[in-house]
Amino acid sequence: MEDCLFCKIIKGEIPSSKVYEDDEILAFNDINPAAPIHILVIPKKHITSLAHMEKDDEAIVGRIYGVINKIAEEKGFKDNGYRVIVNCGKDAGQEVMHLHFHILAGAKFGDKIIDTK
Ligand code: 5GP
Ligand code: ZN
Repeated sequence: MEDCLFCKIIKGEIPSSKVYEDDEILAFNDINPAAPIHILVIPKKHITSLAHMEKDDEAIVGRIYGVINKIAEEKGFKDNGYRVIVNCGKDAGQEVMHLHFHILAGAKFGDKIIDTK
C-alpha cells in the first residue's frame, strides 16, 4: 500500500535491519527499542490492524507465531522467555497502521503491560 511505512520497508524503499524473511513474513529490529531485544514481525500483505483481519488472514497470523518461536530459538531467548505485543487501534497506541507483532526479550518484564496516558 502506498504511504505505508512498513510496506516501504518490505519493498526495500526504507532500510531495515532484517532478522527473518520469507515469501509472506518479514521481521526486523525496532528502530527505537523498548527492551534489549525488540523485533517487529509483520505480514508482507498489508493488513491495517488486527481489527482489519479477514478470515483468509488467520493462516498468516498463525504462521507469524511460528516465526516468532523460530526467531526466539535462533536468537537464544526461547528458554528465558519473551513478550509478544500487538497494539490495535488508537486506544492501544498503534502508530504504524500495518499489522505488526512486537517481540520483547532480554529483560525480566513487570506484570503490568498497561501504561495509560
Ligand atoms: P506501534 O506503536 O504502532 O505498535 O509500534 C510501531 C513501532 O514501529 C514502534 O516501536 C517504532 O519504534 C517502530 N518504528 C517506527 N518507524 C520505524 C522505522 O522506520 N523502522 C523501524 N525498524 N521501526 C520503526
Ligand atoms: Zn502496509
